Amino acid sequence: MIAENQRLIRVKEAGDRLTCIVCPIGCSIEVEQAEDGSIEVSGNRCRRGEAYAREEFSDPRRIITGTCAVDGGEWVRVPVRSSDGVPIESIERFLNAMYELRLHVPIDRGVTLARDLGGTGVDLIATMTVRRSYE
Ligand code: SF4
Repeated sequence: MIAENQRLIRVKEAGDRLTCIVCPIGCSIEVEQAEDGSIEVSGNRCRRGEAYAREEFSDPRRIITGTCAVDGGEWVRVPVRSSDGVPIESIERFLNAMYELRLHVPIDRGVTLARDLGGTGVDLIATMTVRRSYE
């Protein structure tokens, strides 16, 4: 299922148009690759858009969010996110490692739950505090 979903995230190719998601304007950006391999970006209104398009073309990444299992907590799962964008080819590895985790309370919001998760070079962060269950 994870591998199937990963295939649906299509890597951008030269000549593709993409909509910049850095700000609400949403410029339509085109990326072209010259014969010498250099990349030309057009349609962006600012440098942030150019940086976004270049990364999307050469090293696409995604912030991953989800939940992890918690033992003995007031909640049975804790919401989590990646500390940075995960390279698209490493998303399956990151998710598999994330879903194998069983965490122990207490968990503080913002704490690093795992470093270099799945060998991807990206850490896993808790986005909610979970205390011990006293029931
Ligand atoms: S290119 Fe610049 S102005 Fe256009 S959507 Fe991206 S960040 Fe916004």
